[in-house]
Amino acid sequence: MPAHHACHSCGYPLSRIRAAPDPHYNLPIITCPACDTSVVRRRDPMITGFRTAWKSARAALYVFIQCLVSFMLMFMAAVLLTNIAHTARNDYSSNPVALFLTNPQLLRQDEIGPELAILSIILLILGVFTGAWIRSALHHLNTALVTSAFVALPLLFLLQFGLRYWLWNHFVETGRPWGDRGMYRRIPDLLTASAMHAAFIIAGFPLANTLRSLWAAQQRARWSRRRRARRRLRDDR
Ligand SMILES: [Zn+2]
Repeated sequence: MPAHHACHSCGYPLSRIRAAPDPHYNLPIITCPACDTSVVRRRDPMITGFRTAWKSARAALYVFIQCLVSFMLMFMAAVLLTNIAHTARNDYSSNPVALFLTNPQLLRQDEIGPELAILSIILLILGVFTGAWIRSALHHLNTALVTSAFVALPLLFLLQFGLRYWLWNHFVETGRPWGDRGMYRRIPDLLTASAMHAAFIIAGFPLANTLRSLWAAQQRARWSRRRRARRRLRDDR
């Protein structure tokens, strides 16, 4: 029942009268019992406006949450990549993955090996979660493109410190150095860590199928609730 609906001809309150859809146009038509004017039932503009505003606000909130979570994931990846490259370069002066493949016992002999392993496991968890996030919440976007962005943006952010130092070193060489010399030396380690990150993200894709089916079940339940509510409204018109 609409909150307010008065006959525009005589002012008779029509909100309690049911509007049957007319057979020709399927519009909810009411014939005023006082003056026989036929009018189309319309929703209160306040309610319609409120519903539209609520829908837009909810859509904006979804986009905002998606952007925020994506930014947080990339930020955490950048922090982890820095730490992995830093640990690798400072303590082994060689690429940690290369070392792991060729001489793994070196990594286990001291306290740094476990540290590198722990950082890599955290990166694995983050990567798997990111992969699941890309294939579930961001499923409507192009997967290859989004994955490239998730891998490339933290990497490019970190690489620019090293590249700026390289530019300064080759072309300027006066005044304060640009960028960061340490980051310049860690570029191979950063690239290796970033390759690990990409592999972990792809490993997270299968997990997304589970998340997606859960989400789809929830959406189906919501839609059937909404359909029921709409049917009730239609009967009431
Ligand atoms: Zn009337």
